[in-house]
This record gives sequence, structure tokens and C-alpha cells, in this order.
Amino acid sequence: MLGAMQDWPMRVTHVVDHAAREAGTREIVTRWADGSETRTDWAGIRRDALKLAQALQALGLEKGDKVASLAMNHSRHLVSWFGVAGMGGVLHTVNPRLFEDQLEYIVNHAEDRVLLYDAAFQPIVDMMRDRWPGVEHYICYDPPEGSDVRGFESWIGEQDGAFEWVGGDERDPCMICYTSGTTGNPKGVQYEHRSTVMHALAGLQPAAFNFSSSSVMLPVVPMFHAASWGLPYAGGMAGIKFVFSAINDPAVLHELMLREGVTDSAGVPTVWLAHFQYCDSEGLDLPPLKAATIGGSAAPRFMIERLMKNGTRVQHAWGMTETSPIGTVGGPSGNWDELSFEEKVDKTAKQGRAIFGVELRTVDLDDPTKVLPRDGETSGALQIRGPWVVKRYFKAEEDAVTEDGWFDTGDVGILHPDGTLQLTDRTKDVIKSGGEWISSVELENAAMGHPAVAEAACVGMYHPKWDERPVLFVIRKPGADCDAQGITAFLADKVAKWWLPDAVEFVEDIPHTATGKISKKDLRERHADYALPEAR
Ligand code: AMP
Repeated sequence: MLGAMQDWPMRVTHVVDHAAREAGTREIVTRWADGSETRTDWAGIRRDALKLAQALQALGLEKGDKVASLAMNHSRHLVSWFGVAGMGGVLHTVNPRLFEDQLEYIVNHAEDRVLLYDAAFQPIVDMMRDRWPGVEHYICYDPPEGSDVRGFESWIGEQDGAFEWVGGDERDPCMICYTSGTTGNPKGVQYEHRSTVMHALAGLQPAAFNFSSSSVMLPVVPMFHAASWGLPYAGGMAGIKFVFSAINDPAVLHELMLREGVTDSAGVPTVWLAHFQYCDSEGLDLPPLKAATIGGSAAPRFMIERLMKNGTRVQHAWGMTETSPIGTVGGPSGNWDELSFEEKVDKTAKQGRAIFGVELRTVDLDDPTKVLPRDGETSGALQIRGPWVVKRYFKAEEDAVTEDGWFDTGDVGILHPDGTLQLTDRTKDVIKSGGEWISSVELENAAMGHPAVAEAACVGMYHPKWDERPVLFVIRKPGADCDAQGITAFLADKVAKWWLPDAVEFVEDIPHTATGKISKKDLRERHADYALPEAR
């Protein structure tokens, strides 16, 4: 027998309805690529989303159809998040940094019928048009003056907005994101209305984004990557002010943060690093943010320290496209006030604790049936389950989870007795030396603390006696001077002696994936002929 409460399918349109009703005049500011600025508010976002839903229907789109966006962060992209879902469609946020073959594959695989894009990506559209036979309509968010492409504002402007959201089951899909695909073709993860709403609600916890209605958020994490960490939805629920920038120039971001009273921001470590470098070169203080969310890659210790010294709470988050993406977030722990500054930094350098809704466990790397203790020491393959974790990739024939419902993340980590996750590596990158595991990520992070190191990447190379030994590839900071011995000496008191790299190689460049992470696969390929002295 059911209980007797009201039906309220968890659909994402509730988010924009709520925001427009309860925080209708809260501003949404956009700084466009051409330097111009527009201001709307949550009521305006909803109004335009209704018109977009109508305009899509007028093109003949139906429930379940896919609409792609190839766009940076701005208010019209936000409108599309709600308008596409509101007409029952599925928004496919395409990462413009993907390689041509991947772009071809994902748009065709998703069966996108309409593509909404930024003028900055016109060259991609021109290059791909013939390879995307299923895309029937191209609409430009910000057409340059005088161009003959169809512009978003004038297109939705033909509608009167008298539209009712298309309803349906809360398990209907509303968004699809493809993983960046370090091996094989990218895989599609289809988020549902329900999973999205639950994920966003969970993101509002004080232990996660900690938004209040006075929060002003400038998300640097792109809206095309892992649903921008769910921020547009969580922000709508809390009725916060958003400040978007369609370009990621630190000078622009800095100026916007100060002028618009930004309290919160979120981005991958490289974004924060670029901001530090900008402030240092201009002799400026860091912006007075209340909270900085850092995720996507491990937040280095020096970054956390600097932000915390600036009075900014650091929310170090772990997640992946497959997990909507938030899995864990680091915030003040139970005994926070008793910790020294150093201890607080140490704790924040770990990846935080699971937010309500997801469960984590680690299993033995060689025997996945063996669940490992949460003892703060034993590292293993990290698995996760919960309502916003992928069950099956889009169009896949088999589930992506174990029989008992756990998704294997491909990450390696340690769980601590207080629930804190400490990520140590990717399963494919962890280095096995003499039967013991070495964390390539820990070595990289430690090396990144060296004043002369701009970037470091560590991979295991074949060794005749130990199987694999770590080799560290380093890019020197411009004008900085350091040698291999100096780096090894620097690492000596930071990692176990037997972890110290067998070689440190200085390089001009380290390959990255389309989402800005170090691509170990490409690094290994690039140095396929590399041999350690012992193996030569
Ligand atoms: P993506 O699906 O592209 O967002 O990539 C997800 C992967 O990024 C995870 O499986 C981790 O390997 C990595 N990642 C995400 N957040 C963190 C973090 N805070 N620390 C270390 N690695 C992270």
C-alpha cells in the first residue's frame, strides 16, 4: 500500500519554476566573448526557456529528442538547460575541445537533431556539418552582427511563451554527457530528471556547496563538462545570483568577481592556478571569495593553503561524469575547530566525504570480491552506488555495474575511518613496483610543490627487476633553474624512499585530455621507446 502524499514527479522544470517564483529578480549576469554584457534574472530565464521549448516544438521536435549545445557558460545556455528539458527533450552538452573524430562520433551517436552553438565555435560547425548528417537545424547563441546564421534570441523571440512544460516520468532523461574517453569511444551518460533533482538537492547541503540566497556564484567549470557539477540546478533551487563568463581569461574573471560581489566559484585546479598567476603578475590580492570548489583533478596543497589564508573555504570535490558528478566534497569536519592550520590543509587536500545519497567502498585491486577496511591505510579500487550514479551507458547492451549495483570508478583510493576519501591514483596509472603500489598522483602533487616546477606527470616504466618504476616528467617554470637531483632531493622527505622516481626528465610539454587533465595514455605513447637505465 502507498502512503498518502501528493504526486510531484521530480522534474528539473520545478527548479526553474521555483527560482522564477521565489527568486525571480535575482540576477543572471553574462559577460560575452565579444566583451559585451547582458543581465537577466530567474524570471527571464524561465520566460525564455518556455519560448525555447515552444520554438523546438515548432521545429517538429518531440519528447525524447536530443538537442546539442556547443557552448561556454552564459545565460542562453542556462535557458537551454531548462527549455530543452521542458519540452521533454534531452540536452547534449558537447565539449568543444574534443577531437574531430570524437565530435563526429558523439553527435551522431546521441542522434542530435538541433545544435545550439556559440559564434566562437563557428569553425567547428563549418568543419563538422557534413559529418553530422542527423543535425537538421543550427542556431547560433550570439551571431555576429550582419551574419546570416540563425540567431537564438530572434528565433525564440518569434514565440509568445504561452507553453506548458511537457510532463512525464521523473525517470525520463533530461541531459546526456559523454565521458572524455581516455580509451575507445566516449561513452554517453544519460542523466534523468529525478537523478538530476536529487543530485542538486544533495549539492545544497552545508557539507557540499553550502549556498544561501545571498550567494553569488561564478562557475568556471564549463556547462559542457559533467553538468557543470550540477551548479545551475542547485543554484536555481537556492535562488542564487549567477555571474557567467563566456571566456576563461583570469583578468576578466577577476574583474567580474570584484565588481559583481562574487562569493563562490568553482573550477578545476588549472583554473585556480591561472588565477594565482594573474594576481601575482599584476600584484593583486586574490578575490575575497567565501568558498572555492575545486575538483576534476586533485587540488594541490599549496593551492588549498593559499586560498585558506585568503579566508576562502575550500570545498575539494571528487566525482566523475558517471556520477552526475558529485560523489564527495570536503568541508569542515566534526573536529575542525580543534585542528591546526596545517592539519586543516592536510584534511582538505583529501577529497572529502560522501554526500548523502551515495555510498563508497574500496575493493582489493587484484581481488575485487574482497571489500577493504576503512582504515586510512589500505588503498583499493573505488566503487560507488546511488541514485545519480550511472547504471548503463547510453545504448550499451550491458549494465556498467557489478551484480550488487556498484560502479567501478577506475580510481584508486583510501577510505579513512571518518569517511574521508583520499584518492591516490587511477587504476590504469598506479605503478606496481616489486608487488607494491606507488601512487603516480602523489608523486606529481609533491613535485608540483617545487618552486621551479610548472607541471609534473608521473608514469611507470618497465623495469627488469621491479616490473615498473616511476619516471617523472617535468615542465620547468619559465626562467627557473633546477635539475633532476634537485627534484629528487625535494621529494625525499615527502614520499617513501622506495617511491622516489628512478628518473626525472625535463620536457617542453605534457599532453592533456579534452577536459584539461594530464593524459597518461598519450604521455606513455609519446615516450613508448623510453627505457630506464637498468632496462637499457
Ligand atoms: P570526468 O568524468 O572527466 O569528470 O573525470 C572524472 C575523473 O577525474 C575521476 O574519475 C578522477 O580520476 C578525476 N577526479 C575528479 N575529481 C578529482 C579530485 N578531487 N582529485 C583527484 N582526481 C579527481
